[in-house]
Amino acid sequence: MKRIGIFGGTFDPIHNGHLIMAENVKDQMHLDEVMFIPSRIPPLKDAENISAPEHRLNMLRLAAKGSSSFKINDIELKMTGDEPNYTVKTLLKLREEFSAEQVKFYLIIGMDQLINLHKWKDPGKLFLLTEVVIINRPGYLIQQVENEYARRGIFVPVPNIDISATDIRFRIREKRSIKYLVPEEVEEYIYKNNLYK
Ligand code: ATP
Repeated sequence: MKRIGIFGGTFDPIHNGHLIMAENVKDQMHLDEVMFIPSRIPPLKDAENISAPEHRLNMLRLAAKGSSSFKINDIELKMTGDEPNYTVKTLLKLREEFSAEQVKFYLIIGMDQLINLHKWKDPGKLFLLTEVVIINRPGYLIQQVENEYARRGIFVPVPNIDISATDIRFRIREKRSIKYLVPEEVEEYIYKNNLYK
């Protein structure tokens, strides 16, 4: 049975915090693959200020070049309509492509997302469709999020890497360095395309 980690996010931009975390979960959970799924209209974020899908996708592709087990899936970017991308909908769609007999999914979510899981569409269903892997994020403690979902997920401790896309965008606006926060090719891509000014 193939074990695939599902890692959704805005990835605006993808950064080394994402990559280190994904590699770590892959290692600890013995995953064959981690599938990065950039979201089109994130349900809980302000869609207006998000970079164009092709930029986020290009940066993900550059970042994933270094790993044979990191895959990029643009399934959500291809979805049409005004409705935001609900993870449960994406998982059901992925199931049409990857049969339950052959592939087991591990949905990777950060502790910051676990706190808001009750606001997601059909959160209980996520646990039926996948194993939910919860990872720590600086500033969040599992004890603070003792909800029913925390108990149903698998907690995987990863090194605390205090990098966020928000901080990277802020640094660029302030003309500060983002070196070592994102892969070199992503850094070059951001400057070449004038992103986050
Ligand atoms: P933003 O700052 O724009 O909200 P972000 O850095 O949190 O972005 P997202 O694309 O929203 O990045 O994150 C996707 C997923 O990656 C989420 O589950 C989030 O918890 C996780 N994640 C992001 N940064 C880190 C990090 N430094 N360490 C561990 N997990 C992270």
